[in-house]
Amino acid sequence: MARQHRRPVLLEERIKDCKKCSLYKTRTTIVMGEGDYSARYMLVGEAPGKEENKQNRPFVGDAGQRLRKLIKQAGLNINDFYIVNVCKCWPGEGNRTPTKSEIEACLPYLIHQINQIKPEIIFTLGNTATLALLGNRDTRGITKIHGQRYNIGFPVQSVVIPLYHPSYLIRNGESLDHIFIEDLKFAVGIIEGEKNKKKEIYEDLLK
Ligand code: SF4
Repeated sequence: MARQHRRPVLLEERIKDCKKCSLYKTRTTIVMGEGDYSARYMLVGEAPGKEENKQNRPFVGDAGQRLRKLIKQAGLNINDFYIVNVCKCWPGEGNRTPTKSEIEACLPYLIHQINQIKPEIIFTLGNTATLALLGNRDTRGITKIHGQRYNIGFPVQSVVIPLYHPSYLIRNGESLDHIFIEDLKFAVGIIEGEKNKKKEIYEDLLK
């Protein structure tokens, strides 16, 4: 069944003056995310970088280019992804990792977005985004848990699959690219398989 387009509630408008954490001091703009609210999948990064802050777009620059290239190599369409960060404001020069309290302050906005989009899979990119959504469910780190599936019950029943962060991939040359591609393909394959199975059961019931 075709997914229905949902009209977004304008979170942007509601939080445009947000000062819930100290990151409001370093931002030029609040980077909300990019993509269609009917997207099937969500990619969640950590926080906007310097360029993202300038352009008001998530994942521009080298990491964004690598991300888009690998999605294409996995045979997937970037238009099926909504791209977002846990923290919506740039943490300043050096692109430091947001602190726990900054993440906690901004997390409700991400949860609101997940609730609006209801993605079939939430792909967390790297440790920070993964920890933000998994909490204490698994704290082993991305090298141990990439590609694994977690079912979380908030804000809607969601499947979370951690992936390497594209910046980490870049720091490792191209040696980990194939793992990222395999994790993506495996995750999408599993969800598609489950959907087909449900469809078969439903069709059997109607016979
Ligand atoms: S990072 Fe989030 S919580 Fe902090 S000021 Fe920006 S929008 Fe508000």
